[in-house]
Amino acid sequence: MHIVIIGGGLVGAAAAAEAAANGHRVTLIERSEPVPSGDAWDLRISSVHQQNVDWLRELGIWQRIPDHRQRAYHSLSVQSLDQQRVTFAASEAGTEALGAMVENNALQYALWQWLATQKRVTCITGATLQAVDWSQRLATLDDQQQVPFDLLLGADGAQSSVAKLAGISARGWDYDMRCLLAIVTTEQPVAAATWEIFRPCGPYALLPLDDHQACLIDYRDNQSWMALETGGQDQVERELQDVFAPALGSFRLQSAASFPLRRQRALHYHSHDCVALVGDAAHSIHPLAGQGVNLGFGDVRQLLESLRELEMPAALADYEQKRLAVNQRMMRAMDAIHLGFRSRHLLPRALVSLSLTAATRIAPLKRRIIRAAMGD
Ligand SMILES: Cc1cc2nc3c(=O)[nH]c(=O)nc-3n(C[C@H](O)[C@H](O)[C@H](O)COP(=O)(O)OP(=O)(O)OC[C@H]3O[C@@H](n4cnc5c(N)ncnc54)[C@H](O)[C@@H]3O)c2cc1C
Repeated sequence: MHIVIIGGGLVGAAAAAEAAANGHRVTLIERSEPVPSGDAWDLRISSVHQQNVDWLRELGIWQRIPDHRQRAYHSLSVQSLDQQRVTFAASEAGTEALGAMVENNALQYALWQWLATQKRVTCITGATLQAVDWSQRLATLDDQQQVPFDLLLGADGAQSSVAKLAGISARGWDYDMRCLLAIVTTEQPVAAATWEIFRPCGPYALLPLDDHQACLIDYRDNQSWMALETGGQDQVERELQDVFAPALGSFRLQSAASFPLRRQRALHYHSHDCVALVGDAAHSIHPLAGQGVNLGFGDVRQLLESLRELEMPAALADYEQKRLAVNQRMMRAMDAIHLGFRSRHLLPRALVSLSLTAATRIAPLKRRIIRAAMGD
């Protein structure tokens, strides 16, 4: 089968790799040229579940990521408004790591390098999709090049042009919040542990990058961050020192930027018996628990499994049936956490408190949560 993929970000490039590994012919079309890592960590970092790390390692891709742009982490902690803290450690599930922090650029570049070694894969950069003839199964690019396909995959992110051309509509809303990401260099060593602390104006979190570097994440409403950022980098650094220094000790800010948060989901994951959506093109989710790219990888693996087991178009229906429910459950869970952990009202706070107590005291439940954090 010839699979044409629009969008070669993390999810599209991983889809190309898994499709090639399954014996399909692949054409990957990406607007911008992927870039290797620079001297410093880029701000866009993902926490990738151990199950997906293992999958990418089996494909021979993970090994291509430079050691200084990935770090395995062994535990994750969450602290509620009531200062109740629960820690999930990989050792409690009898394993070494829950997952790894990785620079998005480094993973994307590793995927593209691997794809360049594959005879079945053609990569086209600097081109975008312009039109699709669904009856002829023909994609036309902006340079008027025409590419025939058996399956067209939209991995072109939240503003998916594939979804628009296929007539697949989406629902969504803005959270009216921004997420500030900051790379910092610390004086004290940074443990291989990630944590998130909830407070009324939004949570803040740490991703460990290496022995003396971390990515700090701070969620606040739009107005707060925009006001702080107009005060310049010094004001942002002072604010981050107030929040993070008690847990992290002294640090220096290297780079920072904030991103708006939006939730969006496609109403269908396939159409025309020959087109499917994966990754952010199908669902973009609150980054609170670092699930976005992991859900996208889950889509890719399920789609290729459905294509192994069923003929088209039944495979596309099977893919949608299996992934839509899983992804929506995760989106609802993120909304519940987003609201429940922040709420000052008694009922949601009591529910959060009960869940954290149960997670701490009931060993099998805790093990299940740890396995879920690893992507099982
Ligand atoms: C602040 C923040 C922090 C996050 N942290 C995490 C985390 O820790 N863990 C995690 O799992 N997820 C995280 N996410 C989510 C994660 O980044 C996204 O879910 C993931 O990057 C989506 O990948 P994608 O390949 O589906 O889409 P994208 O990354 O949007 O890639 C789409 C690609 O398609 C290309 N493209 C678009 N249109 C066209 C076109 N018409 N023709 C050709 N090419 C096109 C683009 O150039 C781009 O390369 C975070 C998100 C945010 C905002």
